[in-house]
Amino acid sequence: MTAVQDRVSVLGTVDRGASPVHARMWIGGRWCTAASGARLDCVDPTTEELLGTVPAAGPEDVDRAVVAAAEAAREWGALPWRTRGEYLGRLADAITGRAEEIARLDVLDSGNPVAGMRGDVASAVAELRYYAGLAGQTHGESTPTSAGTVSFTRREPYGVVARIVPFNHPFKFATGKAAAALAAGNAVIVKPGEQTSLSAIALAEIAAPVLPPGVLSVLTGTGSVAGDALVSHPGVPRIAFTGSVPTGRAILRAAAENIAHVTVELGGKNPLIVCPDVDPVRAARDAVAAMNIARSNGQSCGSTSRLYVHESIREPFTTALLERVAELRVGDPLEEANDTGPLAFAEHHARVLDHIARARASGAVLAAGGGRPAGLPRGHFVEPTVFTGVTDAMPIAREEVFGPVMAVLSWSDLDDVVARANDSVLGLTANVLTHDLAVAHHLAQRLQAGYVYVNGTGRRPPGSPFGGWKQSGLGKENAGEELLSYTREKTVTITLPALPAWASPRPRGDR
Ligand code: NAD
Repeated sequence: MTAVQDRVSVLGTVDRGASPVHARMWIGGRWCTAASGARLDCVDPTTEELLGTVPAAGPEDVDRAVVAAAEAAREWGALPWRTRGEYLGRLADAITGRAEEIARLDVLDSGNPVAGMRGDVASAVAELRYYAGLAGQTHGESTPTSAGTVSFTRREPYGVVARIVPFNHPFKFATGKAAAALAAGNAVIVKPGEQTSLSAIALAEIAAPVLPPGVLSVLTGTGSVAGDALVSHPGVPRIAFTGSVPTGRAILRAAAENIAHVTVELGGKNPLIVCPDVDPVRAARDAVAAMNIARSNGQSCGSTSRLYVHESIREPFTTALLERVAELRVGDPLEEANDTGPLAFAEHHARVLDHIARARASGAVLAAGGGRPAGLPRGHFVEPTVFTGVTDAMPIAREEVFGPVMAVLSWSDLDDVVARANDSVLGLTANVLTHDLAVAHHLAQRLQAGYVYVNGTGRRPPGSPFGGWKQSGLGKENAGEELLSYTREKTVTITLPALPAWASPRPRGDR
């Protein structure tokens, strides 16, 4: 690649029609390029034009980031928790002041709709504020002991935390998923998805004057080089990963070498069970909303892509579903009038189209969408797509697509549909639409997933633990558990010496 003019600012400079911005990464309180000079392209998935480039970090850069984080962590971890909370509060304020610019940057880089990306910035700010308030909850416990002994636990930060995030919610994950680790007293190295790294650099820009140097680093690069070097580094005792199941496995293997503590938040193939007591038209609208098409173009771990509809309402439900899908406006995600934009990058676009082709080949009936929308000759667009006539064995009912593709299945026996919904190696969320309280509780108990929504899919109260069962993950986030997971417990038992003479109880006769 030709020599580039390095720029620090991506906020307000990256735009369509503007010269590409060649950003730097933020390591140990300094803006830098990769030691090798390697760079990655940032492509606007709507126009397929170059927005800029980011450094492609290598092992040498990773090493620098780890050393700098370890140094910064010493002072950061020693601060009173209230002070760390105040820092995070100031970061939240600074982000709020630039919310619109950040949302726009994420739209350009990821293709996600602008309303969705505004929501993502708000959600990142909410996570920072939540953990800022919770920072003091990293206290230990005491153990009952006999006289002369005191035993208690302390929770201490790990020091360095590697936070590897996927491409689908770029700013929200780069920021929100660093919050708990920072609040607990760790220095965090964020590694964003290589396809959507720009807003993580924006985060660094905003954090640079707010946080002490080295407390937050943003390391850009590919998963196979930068990500792998980070998770294999012996100076990284705690790794937190959000992304696909195969990468999760690779990270668990790499972490085994250093016995690093790992949590992984992985994929989903989430069932939505539509019961016969609900209004099928309303349920169809809820099913489309639960796909997160209007938030991230269906590229969501929580998308409800398996729709199990009671046979008695399957027809009106399917009719309403197709009507709702036909209403969705696909187009430039910067335009408020559009509901959904393109997929984030070319390879993923091809992957989703391949899922659609395989669904058709396996005998599923293509009832809506299935290809590039008319009038959008460029950009990684895929029409919102519905398959009917789907059976449980078809790949479209089993594999995560991570795009705007829904599969309609039907059921008539509750026990049977529970068994079918649970027949997956994944278990991120399970979803139910019913008005019947008894059915709601019955299903909530029997569904094998880390999170069950009954009505209102996706509405998560702050502090409600989120994390998958089975191959969807290890560990919980978005709650107190996440904060504690960034601490390691130490037990201290003190055998007290005998009291000094001046403090010893006087013999009875002397009192
Ligand atoms: P991915 O696994 O391809 O990449 C995720 C991150 O890991 C990226 O930053 C990538 O560069 C990095 N990476 C890749 N290989 C690596 C390696 N060997 N070592 C270290 N890091 C490596 O995932 P993706 O395509 O970006 O995201 C989509 C997946 O993420 C879907 O499966 C989705 O369900 C899942 N996801 C899960 C959640 C959740 O909360 N459970 C949330 C969002 C996305």
